[in-house]
Amino acid sequence: MDVLNPATGGVVATVPASGLAETDSAIERARGAFDAWRSVAPGERARLLRRFASIVDEHVEELAALEVAQAGHTIGNARWEAGNVRDVLNYYAGAPERLSGRQIPVPGGLDVTFHEPLGVVGVIVPWNFPMPIAGWGFAPALAAGNTVVLKPAELTPLTALRLAELGLDAGLPEGVFTVVPGKGSVVGQRFVTHPAVRKVCFTGSTEVGKQIMAGCAEQVKRVTLELGGKSANIVFADSDLELAAASAPAAVYDNAGQDCCARSRILVQRSAYDRFMALLEPAVKAFRCEDPSLETAQMGPLISAGQRASVESYVDGAEVAFRGSAPDGDGFWYPPTVLTARSTGDRHWREEVFGPVVSVLPFEDEADAVRLANDTEYGLSGSLWTRDLGRAIRVARAVETGTLSVNSHSSVRYWTPFGGVKQSGLGRELGPDAPLAFTETKNVFFRTEE
Ligand code: NDP
Repeated sequence: MDVLNPATGGVVATVPASGLAETDSAIERARGAFDAWRSVAPGERARLLRRFASIVDEHVEELAALEVAQAGHTIGNARWEAGNVRDVLNYYAGAPERLSGRQIPVPGGLDVTFHEPLGVVGVIVPWNFPMPIAGWGFAPALAAGNTVVLKPAELTPLTALRLAELGLDAGLPEGVFTVVPGKGSVVGQRFVTHPAVRKVCFTGSTEVGKQIMAGCAEQVKRVTLELGGKSANIVFADSDLELAAASAPAAVYDNAGQDCCARSRILVQRSAYDRFMALLEPAVKAFRCEDPSLETAQMGPLISAGQRASVESYVDGAEVAFRGSAPDGDGFWYPPTVLTARSTGDRHWREEVFGPVVSVLPFEDEADAVRLANDTEYGLSGSLWTRDLGRAIRVARAVETGTLSVNSHSSVRYWTPFGGVKQSGLGRELGPDAPLAFTETKNVFFRTEE
């Protein structure tokens, strides 16, 4: 597999793709390592994860440079992403010593619950956030006593492969955390069909997620799905319009819009529409799309020529309100673009574009805003802007989405649960309960009567 630099189109590295035999042997090694790993004393498992975190910390610059090269992420974002792996490892290093069960009062004896690890967990990662999404899966899974096989996206395997090496350097036993690069239809599919893989943690498109869910049903395999989104950024007339407009570009164009949480629909109350658009235009035009290795870059290229063609297909024939700029020449560049929706039937209003394109539509009142925000099959993220506290609470409760921010454009934090409703996914990642999702609760009754 040739790994391309999206900013230049040049080849960064060539990685051998694993076939079925290599995948099976990685899964067998993970199965073989499980019994010993689950038996490692909780404090020792915690120590190894903390060691893994500090080794990642020592390699933040190297990992970030790899991510800039293979994914076109801005250097600022890439450093944050490598740091996120470190932080998530440290956070879940607290879990092994806190996986407490319960003692439940029952007649005639003592009843105790245990949180038992599942076995081998298969993590399937997309190309949009190769490092954080990997860490959100493997860190809590390892902390709970599982072993992990992880398939990175074909386009972006390099940082995951390096993380697996750093895990070994930290002292993780062989087979506990293995990265298996290769095709989704081969490696990823084998995670679904191999009986030793007891849970699949998938992030990617809704279409593939549905296939994974159907495949896992064959073995009643546990599954977590983090899928697409078409999140709404709802701006009420009573909000701090300057702040809402200033943050709207980052809310959708971060990572060139290739973000499942991208607020790619802006709903603006009609009475504030003109003022908001007048504020949004300079903010979009000032958004710096440039060589991602520059410290000043806010946005880099799209991941591939195919992704750029797909994004372009949404803009062709649509009403462009205004757009920013992007470099010319080699690389998969696309400028930040604002479209005005003619109706909620517009394809760019309904489908996940996964690029630096946002659609804007006015609404009349609170009920209208909620109706329009919920008029989608997705429900992952979103924002709302208002100074009215009661309205903030009402609308936050009424919008059908898993993760929402009020008067802020960011909502993903490793301390809090993350995931979608409707066709945006199943299950939650991150937050204090994530390790429990990689365990089964076992209930044991001890008779105490003579
Ligand atoms: P996919 O859903 O195809 O890929 C995500 C991951 O799943 C990749 O590792 C992929 O492998 C793997 N995969 C693909 N097919 C299978 C399969 N049959 N069984 C098991 N694993 C599989 O997303 P794409 O990369 O093709 O992106 C397409 C669209 O999906 C985007 O434009 C965007 O709309 C959406 N998307 C959403 C994401 C999110 O975060 N919610 C992330 C990425 C994409 P491989 O690399 O070999 O294809």
